[in-house]
Amino acid sequence: TPRVFSGIQPSGGLTLGNYLGAIKRFVQMQEEGLPTVYCMVDLHAITVWQDPADLRHNTRELAAGFIASGISPEKSILINQSQVPEHAQLGWVFSCVARMGWMQRMTQFKDKAGKNTQNVSLGLFGYPALMAADILVYHATHVPVGEDQKQHLELTRDIATKFNHDYGVDFFPITEPVIEGAATRVMSLRDGSKKMSKSDPSDASRINMTDDADTIARKIRKAKTDPDALPSETEGLTERPEARNLVNIYAALSDQSVDQVLNEVGGQQFGSFKPLLAELAVAKLSPISTEMARLMSDPAEIDRILARGAEQAREITVPILEKTYEIMGMVR
Ligand code: ATP
Ligand code: MG
Repeated sequence: TPRVFSGIQPSGGLTLGNYLGAIKRFVQMQEEGLPTVYCMVDLHAITVWQDPADLRHNTRELAAGFIASGISPEKSILINQSQVPEHAQLGWVFSCVARMGWMQRMTQFKDKAGKNTQNVSLGLFGYPALMAADILVYHATHVPVGEDQKQHLELTRDIATKFNHDYGVDFFPITEPVIEGAATRVMSLRDGSKKMSKSDPSDASRINMTDDADTIARKIRKAKTDPDALPSETEGLTERPEARNLVNIYAALSDQSVDQVLNEVGGQQFGSFKPLLAELAVAKLSPISTEMARLMSDPAEIDRILARGAEQAREITVPILEKTYEIMGMVR
C-alpha cells in the first residue's frame, strides 16, 4: 500500500527552494488522496547548534508554513519528529545496519562539515540513518524531496535492503524518491553553483517565505546574473547557471515549462525580466505569508495540531517498531 512521507528541518525559516522543491509537491500528493505524513524534523535540526527559543519558534512557523501552503491536518498527518519517539528508536537500529563506508560517501555531510570534520556532531554524520528511519517507520513508499536528497534516499533503500536480507524478511519497502517539477534544485541568488538553503549565512542568497514584497523585490533585483539578454530557447541557458535559475523559478511559480517561459520573455534583458519575476513571486508568496502570520498569532493551536498528529502517527509507528524488534530478537 502506498504511503507518502517527507520532512523539513526547523533549522531556519522556509525558503522558496523548500516551497518549490518540496512543499508544493507535498500538497499535490495530499490532494491525490494518498495517505501522507509530513514532519518538522527537529531531531535532524539539532545535528547543528539550534538556540532553544529559535528551534521552538521555527518549528511552529514551519508548521504554519505547511498549513498555509495547503497541507490540511484533516487530510495529512502533521507532526514534529521528537513527539513520535519511534523515529529515534528505529534510527538507532538503522545506525547498526548502515555501514561507515556508506555514510562516508554522503555529499551533504561533506558539504555541511567542510574541512572541519573532527569538530562536527556525531549526529551530523549519522543523519541519513535517522532519515531512513523517519521514512521506514511508516513503511512509506514515496518520498517527495528536492534533488539534494537523492543520495540519502538511495541510502534509505540500501538500509531497507540490508535489513531485509540480514534477517531474511520482506519487511521494509524499497522507497521511491519523487523528485519532480521545474524547481527540484533552486540555486542561491548570490552563487549559481550553490543550492538555496535556509541555513545559508547570507540572507540575500534566498527568498524566505516570510519576506515582505519590498524585500523580495530587492533580493531579486540584486540577484547575480550575467550581462546577456534571455535566450528564446532552453539550450541558450546552458553555461548560464544564474539565468537558468531565475527562469526555472519563474517557470515553477507560474506552473509553466521553461520553454513556455522563454517563449514569453526570450530576448528581454534582466532589467525588465527581474521586475516580472518579483511581481510573480510576491503574488504567489504573499497570501501564504499572510496566512502564516495569522496562524502564528495562536501558537497553542499549532501545538495542539502537532500533538494530535503525533497520536495519529503513533498508531502506525508503534506496531512497526514492535515488529522490527521482534524480527531482531528483542525480548518483549
Ligand atoms: P538546511 O540548510 O538547514 O539544510 P534546507 O533549506 O536545505 O535547510 P531541508 O530542511 O534540509 O532545507 O530540506 C527540506 C526539503 O526541501 C528537502 O526535500 C530538500 O530536498 C528541499 N530543498 C531544500 N533546498 C532546496 C532547493 N534549493 N531547491 C529545491 N528543493 C530544496
Ligand atoms: Mg538541507
